[in-house]
Amino acid sequence: MKAAIIAVGSELLGVARLDTNSLFLTECLEGFGVELFGKSVVGDDPTALADLIAFYLPRVAVLVLTGGLGPTADDITRQAVAQCLGRQISIDETLVEELRQRFASFGIVMAEVNRRQAEVISGAQRLANPKGSAPGQRLHQDGCEIFLLPGVPREMRAMTELHLRPWLASQPGTEQGLERRTLKVACLPESEVEARIAPAYEEFGRQNIVVLASPGEVDLQAVASGPVAERRCRLEEMQGRLAELVGEPVFSLDGATLESVVGQLLLAHGATVATAESCTAGLVAERLTRVAGSSQFFVGGVVTYSNALKRSLLGVEGETLERHGAVSEIVGRQMAEQVRRRLQSDYGIGITGIAGPGGGSEEKPVGTVHIAVAGPRGQLAHRRVRFPGDRQSVRQQSSQLALELLRRMLLAAPGSGES
Ligand code: AMP
Ligand code: MG
Repeated sequence: MKAAIIAVGSELLGVARLDTNSLFLTECLEGFGVELFGKSVVGDDPTALADLIAFYLPRVAVLVLTGGLGPTADDITRQAVAQCLGRQISIDETLVEELRQRFASFGIVMAEVNRRQAEVISGAQRLANPKGSAPGQRLHQDGCEIFLLPGVPREMRAMTELHLRPWLASQPGTEQGLERRTLKVACLPESEVEARIAPAYEEFGRQNIVVLASPGEVDLQAVASGPVAERRCRLEEMQGRLAELVGEPVFSLDGATLESVVGQLLLAHGATVATAESCTAGLVAERLTRVAGSSQFFVGGVVTYSNALKRSLLGVEGETLERHGAVSEIVGRQMAEQVRRRLQSDYGIGITGIAGPGGGSEEKPVGTVHIAVAGPRGQLAHRRVRFPGDRQSVRQQSSQLALELLRRMLLAAPGSGES
């Protein structure tokens, strides 16, 4: 079975918005072994859209359109589809009433333009939208199933799950799908990861392992296709082998982020953490608090950018700062130890460095960062690193290594109930 996706919206042709809907839809289609014949982005132009539909129609069994189902004049998807297929459009008054009630439930009187969202193409089945006002539509033409979904990503995702996925599952042959599992590796260079997983390429086929690197992290996607039970079994096997080959830097087998893994470990240990950040200016704190329920393990943090604040808030001695400089092992260590003591947490993180582009010297070039983690039993992990990349990348890698050092310390700590 082949499919095509058309993302509708003039903003997607500009520089401010990227079509991400098609990525989500492609992953869904892959899961059912449906091959993507093509995808297109088109502006809010009925003729251009009708031409595209006419092009894909004889070539695919599923055509998914997203966007252009709103109430305004630039929402042209319904008209373009009707025009292309030679069908009528009519207003469904029951749907108008439902829309009116939906608006009323938010205390809003529905504007007359919203009546347009109740336009139904003749022969189309209406698709409920649990996350918004724009309903979708599904219709069949010349052996092709056409889905009209809204452009707002969260609405499109909900409707894919509710309507497209069940339809795909009901089609013959779609049990032979493709599935991915993401294994995440912290703070190991891509080349090192490559070297470690080389045997897996031989064993499972190079094309079935995808390496995606970002600052401080390498994601390994294991890819397998076939019937569900068979491919899951294969994925388990691949995951196990990759984890074994890469070793300790693997922090997640299911795509979970480093901050959520650290959060879970802190919870499991009944332990808390506090942060003292200089060059990352709160990035570690921000990442830790992305995790739902973080109030149970994150006490708080201080951003001590200036030397004066390193002294007054953390008690780093003036003489130490003068002798060694703010970017030094001793200051990093003291930041971790002091924030732990002063904020009364079990673990403390200290980060001090030069994110650049200015501020570097021969002795301490741009990218030099000292990262320290202090634990409740006097443990102290420290790394001096020199990260490559720009300011944002240095900051991201610093936060990543700080979280990774904490993860390692937690893994080495005995059981729970340490506070
Ligand atoms: P629309 O349903 O066309 O009114 O789109 C509503 C909003 O969803 C737009 O403002 C876009 O920012 C967003 N959007 C529409 N299409 C896409 C797409 N293909 N990928 C990501 N965002 C989209
Ligand atoms: Mg639009």
